[in-house]
Amino acid sequence: MLNATHDFCTIPMPDEHYGLNDYSKGMPRWCPGCGGHSILTSVQRVCKDLQYPPEKTVAVSGIGCSSRFPHYMGTYGFHGLHGRAFPVACGIKFRRPDLNVFAITGDGDCCSIGAGHWVHAVRYNMKMVALLFDNGIYGLTKKQTSPTSPLGTHSNTHPEGSILPPINPLQTTLGISNASFVAQTTDWNVAHLYATIRKAAEHPGFAFVRIVQRCPAFMRDLYADLSGNPENLIYLKSENGINLEPNAQRKFERVIEHNPLNINKAREHAEISDGIPIGLLYQNTENPRYDTYGAHNLGMNATDKKQGIRELLDHYTIKNNNS
Ligand code: SF4
Repeated sequence: MLNATHDFCTIPMPDEHYGLNDYSKGMPRWCPGCGGHSILTSVQRVCKDLQYPPEKTVAVSGIGCSSRFPHYMGTYGFHGLHGRAFPVACGIKFRRPDLNVFAITGDGDCCSIGAGHWVHAVRYNMKMVALLFDNGIYGLTKKQTSPTSPLGTHSNTHPEGSILPPINPLQTTLGISNASFVAQTTDWNVAHLYATIRKAAEHPGFAFVRIVQRCPAFMRDLYADLSGNPENLIYLKSENGINLEPNAQRKFERVIEHNPLNINKAREHAEISDGIPIGLLYQNTENPRYDTYGAHNLGMNATDKKQGIRELLDHYTIKNNNS
C-alpha cells in the first residue's frame, strides 16, 4: 500500500495499489508447457491493470485441469462440481453484483456435462468473464474424447479415432438468445490473450471467451501444428474489436475486417475451418442483464426482503373458509 501524499510531491497517488503478487497464490500444478499458465498470468495482469480489489474478486470453476485455476488466484475462489461453474458464478453475481467474477471452465466441463448451464448463463447475461479453456481433450482424467475433440482424435475412449464431429463453442454461443459477447483467442499469443480478457472484463454483460489451449501432455501433435504455423491464425480486425499494437498486428499474415455488431458475419467466421479466427466476433452492450434484477440492485434491504417473502407466503396460503 502506498501513502496518499508526501510533503514535496504533488502527484496524486492512490490510497491503495495492487501489484501482481496480490493476485497470485501457490504454485500452479499444471504440466510444463500447458496453456493454463499463460491464461492465469493474463487474468492476473488484467486484475492488476483494472485494479480489482482482491477481496472483491472471485474465480469460480467446475472440474478439470482448468478448474484448478481458483487455487492460484490470490482472490476469493470456488472450485465447484463438474459442469457447475456457471450456476455458482451466476448465484454469486446475482447476490453480490459488486464482485468481479471470473467463471473458469474447460471443454469437458462446459460443453458436455455443463452444457445446459452454459446455455442459460449466456441467456442470463450477468456481468462476468467466462473463460473456456478448450484443449479438445479430457486432460485431468488422462485422455478421453471431449465434445470439442477434432474428428478422428485417438483417445482412451476412441482408440481407433473419434467418430462424431465436434461441437463448435463459438457457433453454439452465437446461437443462444441474448448472447452479448463472443471472442476467441489462443494461449500462445499472449498479447492477444491479454487484450481479449481485458476487453471481456470491460464488457457490461456475460463475456464468453473461447481460448484455444495447448495440452502438450495429451494433444501434443495437434497443438504443435497449430501454434507453430502463423498461417493458422486469422486476425479479426475492427475499430471497436480487440486491437493490438501495430507491431504485434504485423505478425498476422491473414487478416479479415470484421464488424462485431454483425452477428451473421460472426457466425460465418466462427465456421472457418482452415484456420483459427481470433478476435471479437460479436458484441452487443444493450442486451438485458438478469443480475440487474437482483434484490441488491432493486435497493431492497434485509427487512424489505423478509417482508416481501411474508407477503408472498400469505398470498399463496390456502385458507380454510370453514374455520
Ligand atoms: Fe495442461 Fe494437458 Fe497437463 Fe492438463 S494434462 S495440466 S491440460 S498439459
